[in-house]
Amino acid sequence: MKHTLADVVEIDLHTEPPRPASAELRTLYREEGESARKQATRRGLWIAVAAYLLFSITDILLVPDVARYTIAARFAVGIVAIAALEIQLRLNTSANAIDATSAAAVILAYAGWLCPAMMTADVQTISYYMVFGAIFMMSVNLFFSFRFRLSLVASGVILLIFLAALQSFPPIYPSYKLAFGTFCVSCFVFTSYVNWKLNWERYKVFLNALEAKVQHNEASERGKALLRLSNTDPLTGLENRRAIDQRLRDYWDDWQKTGHSFAAILIDVDFFKRYNDCYGHQEGDRCLVLVANALEASIEPYSGSIGRYGGEEFIVLAHLDTSERLAELAEAIRSTVENLAQAHGQRRDGTSIVTVSVGASFTRNQTGTKLEKIIHEADRALYAAKASGRNCTRLFDPNDPQSSDESENIAALLKIAIDHHLVSLVYQPIRNVVSGRVEAVEALMRLRMLDGTAVTPSLFIPVAERTGAILELGRWAIRTVCRELLMDDHVPVVSVNVSPIQLKAPGFAASVAAILGETGVAGGRLALEITEGLEMEMHSDILRCISDLKTLGIKIWLDDFGTGFAGLSWLRLIDFDTVKIDRSFLHDCGTPRGRAMLQDIIGLVRNRGHNILVEGVETDEQLALMQDFRIDQVQGFHVGRPAPAENFMAPPPADPRQARLVRPLRG
Ligand code: C2E
Ligand code: CA
Ligand code: CA
Repeated sequence: MKHTLADVVEIDLHTEPPRPASAELRTLYREEGESARKQATRRGLWIAVAAYLLFSITDILLVPDVARYTIAARFAVGIVAIAALEIQLRLNTSANAIDATSAAAVILAYAGWLCPAMMTADVQTISYYMVFGAIFMMSVNLFFSFRFRLSLVASGVILLIFLAALQSFPPIYPSYKLAFGTFCVSCFVFTSYVNWKLNWERYKVFLNALEAKVQHNEASERGKALLRLSNTDPLTGLENRRAIDQRLRDYWDDWQKTGHSFAAILIDVDFFKRYNDCYGHQEGDRCLVLVANALEASIEPYSGSIGRYGGEEFIVLAHLDTSERLAELAEAIRSTVENLAQAHGQRRDGTSIVTVSVGASFTRNQTGTKLEKIIHEADRALYAAKASGRNCTRLFDPNDPQSSDESENIAALLKIAIDHHLVSLVYQPIRNVVSGRVEAVEALMRLRMLDGTAVTPSLFIPVAERTGAILELGRWAIRTVCRELLMDDHVPVVSVNVSPIQLKAPGFAASVAAILGETGVAGGRLALEITEGLEMEMHSDILRCISDLKTLGIKIWLDDFGTGFAGLSWLRLIDFDTVKIDRSFLHDCGTPRGRAMLQDIIGLVRNRGHNILVEGVETDEQLALMQDFRIDQVQGFHVGRPAPAENFMAPPPADPRQARLVRPLRG
């Protein structure tokens, strides 16, 4: 089993006495404090040499006859030792080698002094004086911080020199030899033991410090890993929303402080829910990873930041100087994903690979002070990209009406519209071509500003869809229709326009059922018009919702047929009660080509057995044409303009054909 450094430290700390167990630990210990050890030894040797030279005085006092030699020896040894030490330090020799030199210098100092001192005529004095050997022993064991083995060898050699010198004395004082010999041996044993203890303590200190360091490193590594984890999207490995939000704040602060402009780019994988539904979640995840990697590569030359913003949405932030560069980057992002050529066979919009829609916004001085605004703008640009058929890029354009502050105002207005009675419904009659009866009316929403100015549906409906206000407005419309016209049987059927967003919202069918329940209106008197518009994606939720609505008896109509991409596949998937052919086909009927086109469309819808309604009938000729074409129902200014509910509330006169058609025309 391989031990980690932390394990080895732990093992050594609990071994008594501790010994370096692993080679790694040994190396660490040896290397630990190299330069500090060298400096300590250097200081020690300089002090030792100074003291050694100072003892020249005792030489003069005690052995004056040989003092000349001993002092010469002291100086010679001192100079050689210091020179050797300094040279080694210059050569950056290891601390161990320097310690060995110093230990050798101490031995040499003792021997170098003892030899000439022993030549003195005063045997008695030298017999005492030579006991100073014990000081040399103490210095290698206690004064310097040598490792145990070096200290043992050095003090052992000093002991041997001492014993040899003791031996050379005449055997006149055997008790003297015994006493001093024993003293020196005891001194050797004692100081060696203390040295061993010191080394042990030193190693323990090292181990404790190392353990603390290892623990600290481990803790900080763990902390870093945790931080990485909390900032990373587990699927794609990109930064997650939290991290990218922080990054956005950094970019923003930088822009505010230094004027370093930047762009925010939102990227949405087109028809991803369909991809998931069709290929399964695992494949969906794989697709997201593929796209994430491609996006990451595509932004590399721009040194931007990328993150996963949620579901199938990614965000890129980059410092860019011009909107041309931004357009270039947005296009690079779009084309990179397109070039992956990842198959997506379920789109039904003519494309069969995975693509992305890209919306981008750039810091502008007018942007105001709010950080969220740039994301909001990029989001709107993304919405525009999707509305333009996807797989395209859009830069936020402050001059575009859907982007303007006016749209902001509308969004705010929509929030209070119902409570402040700013929203209302008008109704446009739908006539049966054969009987000439008004069989139904279409409810059309109207919005007024607080000052009474009308806002056209083409302006406020997209804002309501974008902001989600359409959900509440839609429920309000259905309830109002039931109360105004259906409850008291003013008209047989009312059709209400619904956005796919409403159909996708959970609980929509249930809320319609509740309204029917509370107003006592039968489901069969309500028709919902669905436009194959922006949200072409035939989500499984939509299909489920439509089937629930049909269970309630509600009629489902297809609006503006022929204008979208998905009309035909919708016809296949949903059993529409009525198909409304967009007025553009009727208006193109002036040319033989246009007429043939309308006939083809009518043939196609008729073959599928749907009730056919043509919109936009404005003239007598057009109405006659519809009769020729045996169209079921017509709608248009010629039949009647949209008018308030009151226009449809009058009691039916004798000739219903005239009355019901004329009243709205005048309203
Ligand atoms: P749409 O559903 O196609 O509604 C018909 C639009 O054509 C109406 O415009 C109507 O005024 C207009 N129109 C009717 N007859 C003629 C004609 O003979 N000639 C011409 N040139 N136009 C005619 P409006 O009221 O402005 O509504 C525009 C669109 O707003 C609607 O198109 C519908 O898509 C949407 N909309 C209106 N009300 C609602 C609503 O309550 N909910 C939702 N989701 N969308 C709505
Ligand atoms: Ca409609
Ligand atoms: Ca229509």
